[in-house]
Parts: sequence; structure tokens; C-alpha cells
Amino acid sequence: MKCNNKDCSASTGIDGELTFGWGEFFDGYWEHPCKICEENYLARQNDPNNFTLSYKNGWQCFVALSHLEKHFDLFSYLKNESITNVGNKGYMMFILRNKYEHSVEDTLIHKFGMRHVWRNI
Ligand SMILES: [Zn+2]
Repeated sequence: MKCNNKDCSASTGIDGELTFGWGEFFDGYWEHPCKICEENYLARQNDPNNFTLSYKNGWQCFVALSHLEKHFDLFSYLKNESITNVGNKGYMMFILRNKYEHSVEDTLIHKFGMRHVWRNI
């Protein structure tokens, strides 16, 4: 669930976590941070079946470490589709090759039974 502000979107904050808001985005901070989206995002993070796609200089896919530990084939798959990956606060962020973004989304949903909870451009 997202707030009703059509200008609101997500980007990667200074600590590598997703951050939400609108207006100018500079040095990891939004001109107008969005409390609603921030709180929804934090609540959804507790569900390891969720994944998040966001875009900032390339597609980024966030998946819970606890989920990856249980599904090694998922980890191998995402690593294959990524330029690089980095772990942070219970999550791993995969920086995807742009052209594979849609097929990655479909595979996570249909093959691995995950739920997509966020997307922005
Ligand atoms: Zn919002």
C-alpha cells in the first residue's frame, strides 16, 4: 500500500535503505519525506516473502536475508541476474542488469512464490 501522493516515490537513502518522499532528492534525503510510505515499508519488511524493486541509476531488488538463507537457489538466481549485491540490516540489495528487470520480477513471483510490494521509476 502506498500513500495517495502521485509524486511520492522511493530511492536509496544514505544508509542503503529505501527512503520515501517527493520533491528534490539530494545526498540521500528527500525534500519532503513521506511518513506514510516509510511506515508501510518498515511494516512490510517483517515479511520475508516480500521483495522490493526500486530504481536509482539501475534496478535494485531488495530481498530479506532470512529468505535467501532458506532458499539458496533464489540467492544463486539473483546473483546471476545482478551486477553486484550488498547486504544491509537484514536485507540484501541486488543491483540488476536493466534489461532483465521484468523477467526477474516474474521469476520471483511465479517461480519463488514471493510478493512484490514496491516499485517505482
Ligand atoms: Zn508516500
